[in-house]
Formats: sequence, structure tokens, C-alpha cells
Amino acid sequence: MDKAVQSPVMNTYKRLPFALQSGSGSYVTAEDGTSYLDFTSGIAVCNLGHAPKEVSEAVKAQMDQFWHCSNLFPITLQEEAAAVLTEAPGMDEVFFCNSGAEANEAAWKLARKYQRDQGFAEKYHILSFHQSFHGRTGGAMAATGQEKIKHGFEPVMPGFSSIPFMDQEALKQIDETTAAVFLEVVQGEGGVHPAGKNWLQQLQNVCRDKGALLIIDEIQTGAGRTGTWFAYEQFGLEPDIVTAAKGIGSGFPVGAVLASAETAASFSPGTHGSTFGGNPLAMAAVKATKEAMTEPFLEDVQHRSAWFKHQLQETAAPYGWEVRGLGFLLGIDLKEPAAPLLEKLRSNQVLALPAGENVLRILPPLTATDMELQLFLQALTQAVQAWKEEV
Ligand SMILES: *Cc1c(COP(=O)(O)O)cnc(C)c1O
Repeated sequence: MDKAVQSPVMNTYKRLPFALQSGSGSYVTAEDGTSYLDFTSGIAVCNLGHAPKEVSEAVKAQMDQFWHCSNLFPITLQEEAAAVLTEAPGMDEVFFCNSGAEANEAAWKLARKYQRDQGFAEKYHILSFHQSFHGRTGGAMAATGQEKIKHGFEPVMPGFSSIPFMDQEALKQIDETTAAVFLEVVQGEGGVHPAGKNWLQQLQNVCRDKGALLIIDEIQTGAGRTGTWFAYEQFGLEPDIVTAAKGIGSGFPVGAVLASAETAASFSPGTHGSTFGGNPLAMAAVKATKEAMTEPFLEDVQHRSAWFKHQLQETAAPYGWEVRGLGFLLGIDLKEPAAPLLEKLRSNQVLALPAGENVLRILPPLTATDMELQLFLQALTQAVQAWKEEV
């Protein structure tokens, strides 16, 4: 070896200095025994908290019964999980895979195939928005509207480009060559930027006019995170394709592409696939997760998150910071790097995330109790005071 190797794991993440060993509800415990209030939710994955009982029991029971058989066989649990997911408005069929990026790959492939099948070979451009994040694989990276994600991997796949978000003029770039537009209703990684309802409606109208499909990336906003199962439901949108991953398996790795029947018809045997996609263990997790997020549960998320956002605004106001987001996908724009404040929170045994460089991203489990939300607010107030005293 010609260089000192610190770890046998590739160095793709800047990691925190402690490892977590267990988790229950809103709390995680580190190897040294310290407990933390976890408002990262494993980056919008553990939406029902850590080790949620319903999901844990469903996966354990499946584990004793049957793990894997490949998609050469019909998988009953896959049918059942797809049936609950297609309760989402306008969605009729599901393709299962294993991650968000993989779901987005399937989505742009489906969109191009659909346009070809309609006889529109010239419609192959996939448009997305500046600051968007759609994943790290070839196509998902090409769709991502952030140069730093693509840097060093050029040439990036052709046929993808991004246009300004929440910009009316930019919608003119959707034209007869556009196969589909990729959209996050609330941009997550890019800094917690929610889109406005009017602009979203305009975007949808332009897509319809030009014959471009609308793909909504609900990988971060889905699974109840914004107070409805999918965020698009709150904006009267009628997407052709929706991608999901992160929270839909409560921590079991799984991704999904949902589509209208008309769009989904362009995937036929041999056009797309995934060995592990729709594996019985993952399907048990998806079904139990979706069933746990009942209407009353989601309504309660809407109430608690609205209250919590208001409290955050009170905390942020004296400093002139903007609080953005929807449901329990929230960010405070600090206008300077969030890392020092995150460190102060950690020393108070509270975990949150950055988004972009300057945004403190707060992703409580949807199950966080009023007391846990209060605890976070207190810790935040203290951390902000300690931080401001230093600078
Ligand atoms: C996390 C994320 C992805 C990528 O998901 P992976 O499972 O990491 O591949 C794509 N889109 C959005 C909006 C995300 O938040």
C-alpha cells in the first residue's frame, strides 16, 4: 500500500466522530452510551422513528418465511405493496427498485420510452431545476442541477439540462423536444426550497401544452414527511410519474416508481428490471409503513409541524433568519455555514442536518411527541445563544 489507509471503507462521506449503536423512537444511542434526540431521521428515512414496532414485526415475520425469489415469479407482497402505494392520486402502477437514484433512472427511462412509443423520437430531453438533487448514478447525476455533484465525472450523459427553479421565464425552455421535467416540490438537499402553488400549476400547464411528462421526485418529500403521503397531493398536481425511496421502507432499502396506467404501459417485459427490486422483505416494510400512516396520523403531523414551524420562526426572527419548508421538512437559512451551530446542538445531545452550506435542516421523526419538539426548541435556543456569544 502506497498510502496510509485510515479505514477500509471508501472515503465518500465526511463522517461525524462517533458511531451510533441503537435507536428507538426519536432517540439514538452512540457506542459510548450517549443518547441523542435525532432530528435527522437518517436523512428523512426513519419517518416513523427508529425501529417502529409495526414495521419491525412485519419484516421479522417475513424474514422467518421467505427472503427472495427474483422477479421471475409473481410476488404477492409486491402486489399488495403496490396496491397501497397506488392509493396516491393519479397513480396506477408501481415498479420497485432499491434506492432513490435507481428510481429516478427508471423514471427517465420510462419517460423516454413513452415518448418513443407515441412516435415522438425528437422528445428526449430531460429537464430539471437548478439546485435540485436527484441522486448519484449516471442519469440521476445528469438530472441533478448542481455542478459540484458532477465535477470530475465529465462527460455527463447528454440529453439532460437544468433551468432556474421558481422562475416563470425558465418555463419557456420546456419545448417540443422535452421528454419530461423532473421536479422536487420542496427541494431538499439544495437548501429546503418549497415551490409556490401558482408556479407549479404553470409548470404543469406548460408540460401539458408541450407534451412533456411531469416527473415528481418525492424521495425526500414522500412517506408523510410534508404532512401528506406525497407532497404533490397538496398542490393539486397530476404528475405522470412519481419516484419514492428514503422513508417508504422506514429504513429498509427500497425505491419505487409510480406512474399512471397510460405512462406505465411503456414498460413491458425486457425493457427494465432490478434483481432485488420488490423483494419480499422490502415489500413487508413498505406495506407496514404505508398502513401506519393513516389519514388521522397525517393530519396530526400537519398540526404538530405547523406549530413547530411557527416556534422555529419565533426563534429565528431576532436574527433575521428565514424558516422554510413544509410539514416536518424544515430549514433555517442562517446565511452562513450551519456546521458550527450543528456542533453546538450535538454538544447538547441533539442532532440535525445541513442542507447546502448555510441551511440548518430539521427532519424530526413524524412521530416526535410535543415534548420532544419542545426539547429541540430549547436546545436550539441554547445552541444559538452559545454560538452568538462566541462570534
Ligand atoms: C436522497 C435523494 C435522492 C437519492 O436517493 P438515494 O437513495 O440516495 O439514491 C434523490 N432525490 C432526492 C430528492 C433525494 O432527497
